[in-house]
Amino acid sequence: MTDLTNHLPTAELQALDAAHHMHPFTANGELAQKGVRVITRAKGVTLTDSEGHEILDAMAGLWCVNVGYGREELADVAARQMRELPYYNTFFQTTHVPAIALAAKIAELAPGDLNNVFFAGSGSEANDTNIRMVRHYWAMKGKPTKSILISRKNAYHGSSVGSGSLGGMSGMHAQGGLPIPDIHHINQPNWWAEGGDATPEDFGLACAQELEQAILELGEDRVAAFIAEPIQGAGGVIVPPATYWPEIQRICDKYEILLIADEVICGFGRTGAWFGSETMGIRPDIMTIAKGLSSGYAPIGGSIVSDEVASVIAQGEFNHGYTYSGHPVAAAVALENLRILEEEKIVERVKTVTAPYLKEKWEALVAHPLVGEANIIGMMGSITLTPNKSTRAAFAAEAGTVGYICRERCFANNLVMRHVGDRMIISPPLVITEAEIDTLIARATTSLDECLAQIEAEGLNVSA
Ligand SMILES: *Cc1c(COP(=O)(O)O)cnc(C)c1O
Repeated sequence: MTDLTNHLPTAELQALDAAHHMHPFTANGELAQKGVRVITRAKGVTLTDSEGHEILDAMAGLWCVNVGYGREELADVAARQMRELPYYNTFFQTTHVPAIALAAKIAELAPGDLNNVFFAGSGSEANDTNIRMVRHYWAMKGKPTKSILISRKNAYHGSSVGSGSLGGMSGMHAQGGLPIPDIHHINQPNWWAEGGDATPEDFGLACAQELEQAILELGEDRVAAFIAEPIQGAGGVIVPPATYWPEIQRICDKYEILLIADEVICGFGRTGAWFGSETMGIRPDIMTIAKGLSSGYAPIGGSIVSDEVASVIAQGEFNHGYTYSGHPVAAAVALENLRILEEEKIVERVKTVTAPYLKEKWEALVAHPLVGEANIIGMMGSITLTPNKSTRAAFAAEAGTVGYICRERCFANNLVMRHVGDRMIISPPLVITEAEIDTLIARATTSLDECLAQIEAEGLNVSA
C-alpha cells in the first residue's frame, strides 16, 4: 500500500492551497496570508496535522464523525461495494441492494410512521427536496396556495439556494439573492441573547407562539410547513427552554401544518437518542438527515417521510431527484455505520455514561469568569462568553471578536472547539471516552484562561 500521508512540506501545501483552493465559509484572501492548517490523518477523536500536532476534535469534523475516525469496517465496505456495483441510479424503475437495505434500516430506526426515505447527497439537497415535497404534497391535496415554509432566524438548513433560504443566517441572505419567495422567518428561542427579563419558560412559550401568530397573519391556507432543528446547531448549540417544543407541536397539530425536523446534526445519536425529535418529544412529518448517517465517511443525506405524506406523493410522479440519490457506495457505508452505532450500543452509552459525565464537567465551566451559561444535551454543548454574567451582557467589541480569540487559543492548545459569535461550541465524536472528556475540559479551561488574559490585556473585556 502507498503511504497516503506521505506529502509535500507544509509550506508547499499551503502555497498550493492558497493558489488554487476556494474554501467554503472562508475569507480566502485572509486565509492565504495566514496559512491553512493541513490535516493529514485521524484516529478515534484525534486529528493529526502535517506538522505532527495531535488535536482533539471536539467538533467531530463538522458535527458528523459520530463513530470516530479510522473505522476499518467502513473502508472495507466502501471498497467491496465499489468492486461489486460502484454506481447505478434509482430513477428509471430500478434499484439496488444498498439503497433498499439502508431505506429499510432507517425506517426501522425512525420513530412513528416515518417509514419512507428519499435519498440525497447532503443535508442541503435533502432540504431542497423538502421544500419541493411539502409544496407538492399540498398541491396534490388540492391546496396549491399552501406554499409558505416557516423557519427561524439564525437557523441553519444548508447552503444551496433553497436550503440557504430556509435557514435564517443573515450573512448568507446578504449574498447571492436569497431568500427565494414564500419562506418566512420567526425568532429563535435563544433566551440568553434575546430573552430580556422574561423567565426562560415564558420566553420559550412566547417564541413558540410566534408560529401561531405567523400562521394567522399569513393565512392558514398559505402555510405548508414549519421547519426547525430540534436543537439549533450551527446557530450556536441553542437548547430551547422546555416550554418551546410542546407548544410548537400543539400549533402544528391545530393548524395541520407539516412539521419538518432538521435532524442533520441531532440525528443518529447526537442527543443521546437515535433522533433529536425523540429527545425533545416531537412528532415530525418529515426528518432531514445527513452528517451522522454515514459518520461523514461518505456524502449522503435524505428525507425520512411519514406514511401519510409519502402516500400522497406516490399518487403521481414527483419530478425530482439527484444523480447520487441512494448512491450505492454511500448507502453501503451508511448501513455499516448504523450497524456499528447499533451493535456497539454507542447511542445507549452516550445517554447513560458519557453524556452525563460530559454534562457535569461542561456545566462546571460556568465557574470560569468568562463563561455566562452552559447549554448541553447529549454530545452537543455550548458556553456563552460574557464580560458580565449577572446582566448577560454582550462584549462591546463586534460580536465574534472574543469568540475568535478563544477559538485560536483552543487550536494552539490542540483542541478543536468552534465559535459562533461569542459562544463556544462542541459536538465531539460519540465514542469519546471519559479520559478524553477530561482532556477536552482541561484544554478548554486553559484556553479560556488564556483568552481572558488576552482580552484583559487588549481592553476587550468590557460590556456593550
Ligand atoms: C450541516 C447541516 C445542513 C446541511 O448539510 P450539508 O450536508 O452541509 O449540505 C442542514 N441542516 C443542518 C441542521 C445542518 O447542521
